[in-house]
Amino acid sequence: MKIHEYQARKLFSKYGIPVPEGEVCRSVDEVKKKISDEDKLRVVKAQVHVGGRGKAGGVKLAKTKAEAIERAEEILGMNIKGLTVEKVLIAEAVDIEKEFYVGLINDRNTKSVVLMASAEGGVEIEEVARVSPEKIIKMPIDPTMGLMDWQARKIALQLFSEPSQVRQAAAILVKLYQLYVDTDCSLAEINPLVLTPDKKVMALDGKMNFDDNALFRQHKILDMREVNEDEAKEIEATAKGLSYIKLEGNIGCMVNGAGLAMATMDMIKLYGGDPDNFLDIGGSSNAKKVVDAMNILLSDKNVEAVMINIFGGITRCDDVARGLVTALDEIKTDIPIVIRLSGTNAKEGLEIIKDYGLPTVSTMSEAAKKAIELSKK
Ligand code: GDP
Ligand code: MN
Repeated sequence: MKIHEYQARKLFSKYGIPVPEGEVCRSVDEVKKKISDEDKLRVVKAQVHVGGRGKAGGVKLAKTKAEAIERAEEILGMNIKGLTVEKVLIAEAVDIEKEFYVGLINDRNTKSVVLMASAEGGVEIEEVARVSPEKIIKMPIDPTMGLMDWQARKIALQLFSEPSQVRQAAAILVKLYQLYVDTDCSLAEINPLVLTPDKKVMALDGKMNFDDNALFRQHKILDMREVNEDEAKEIEATAKGLSYIKLEGNIGCMVNGAGLAMATMDMIKLYGGDPDNFLDIGGSSNAKKVVDAMNILLSDKNVEAVMINIFGGITRCDDVARGLVTALDEIKTDIPIVIRLSGTNAKEGLEIIKDYGLPTVSTMSEAAKKAIELSKK
C-alpha cells in the first residue's frame, strides 16, 4: 500500500523528523482558505502515487499567496504519468544548499532492511543506481539489533562533514528506521533530504510503501489509504479472492495459477502483444470467481481482447466454462475472447463453450497469437 507525500510528512513529524509545515488541499477554494495571507516562499506539490513529479511539472515554487493559488490551479487536475492530480500539498519552501537521498527497503538478498544513502539527492534513485551505482551507500541492518546510533552516524558521516549536521542526519536515520519497523513498511525514502543555508537538515519529500500482508495489524496506516481507479480494482479483486494487478497493455488475461499467469503474460509479450493485467483466479473450481474476473476485465476500457488460459488440475475446466457462460450472459460485450482449456474436464468444458458459440484454441501460443490479432481489429 502506498500513501501520499503529505501523509508521509505527517508520520515523519510524529517521529520527530523535521519537515516544513504544509497544508493539503483538494480545490483552489480550499487553498485560498487554508493558507495564510502572508506572502512567503511556498512550494505547491501534486499528490500522486508516482515519483518524478518535479520533472513532470507537478512541483512548483510560489513567492506570494496569489502565485500559490495560481500554481495550485495549474497542478490540480493535471495528469502525471497517467494519474490525475486530485490534491496538492502547499508547503513552506526552504532554501536548499544541498540535496541528499536516504531510504530504507526490504532486501531479499541480505534478508534484512537495507539503509541506502547518497549525496546524489533530488534525482530519482533508480537513475543514480543505473548511471553511477557506486554513489549509493548501502548498509544491511540486523533485525535483532535494529539501526544503532553508531551505524547511523557512520552513514551520516559519508554524506556530511560538520559534526552538527552529522548528528542531525544520524538522528533522522534512526527515527526513520523506527517508523519503518513500527508501521511495517516495505519502503521509506526521503528524497531530497536537504541541508539548508542555515545548516538545518530536513526532509522535503517522503515516499512510504507498506507491506499489504501486515495491514491487518496496521489500522492507522490502513485508515490513510487513498486509492486511484486501478488500485480500487485491485482491492476489489482481492476481496473476491482473485489476484489482480493492472498493467499497461490491451490484452486482458484470465488464468488459473500465478505461474501460468506469468507464463501467459510472457507468451503475449513474445508474440509482440501487451498484457493489460495479471489475473489469477486461483486453484479452485468456483464459477463465481470466473464471473467476477470477467466483470473486472470487461469493464476495463483498455482491454481490446481477452485471453483465457486454463490448465485444469484441481480447477475443473467445465466449471470454468460454466462460469464463463454465466458471466457472458450477464455482461454483454463486443470484446473478442479467445479460450484455451486443457487438463481436468477439458472436453466437457470445451463442449459447453462450443455450444455457446465461442472460439477455442488448443495451445497457449495459439491463444496468445489469436488474442493479439483480435486486439488489433
Ligand atoms: P519528486 O520529483 O516527485 O521527487 O518531488 P520532490 O518533492 O522531491 O521535489 C522535486 C524537487 O523540487 C526537489 O528535488 C527540489 O529540488 C525541489 N523542491 C522541492 N521542495 C522545495 C523547496 O521547499 N524549496 C526549493 N528550493 N526546492 C524544492
Ligand atoms: Mn522526491
